[in-house]
Amino acid sequence: MVKNEFVTAINCMDGRVQEPVLNWMKQRYNALYVDMITEAGPNKLLRSDNKVLIENIYDRVRVSTDRHGSQYIAIAGHHDCAGYPVSAEKKKGKILDSVELIESWDLGFKEIAGLYINDKWEVEIVCIKTADPAVEAEA
Ligand SMILES: [Zn+2]
Repeated sequence: MVKNEFVTAINCMDGRVQEPVLNWMKQRYNALYVDMITEAGPNKLLRSDNKVLIENIYDRVRVSTDRHGSQYIAIAGHHDCAGYPVSAEKKKGKILDSVELIESWDLGFKEIAGLYINDKWEVEIVCIKTADPAVEAEA
């Protein structure tokens, strides 16, 4: 697999989920660095009416794609989140919604991963959206 220098993660600010997400991203995408965009409960924010903050997250994602050439992104949510204290089931629904939002940004990601970090601080895959292989073949 080709080494990806930079990949991108939108993650919670919670200190407990930094390393699990970092390690998962590095392993899956053979990446050297993970650009980490953190908020308190980002998958709640991305589907809120807070346009200013969503735009701010978007701008930071663009730095990662435009300046660092990132082609892979993950959005993560986790167990025991102070920023978004809801059930795992509800949170996973928001993670799916967030993946759809990121997909609608149309930034050319080869893969968008929705991740849930469980009560053992293990990464669970909620969904993986890959770019249309036909489109990729033309590129
Ligand atoms: Zn959190």
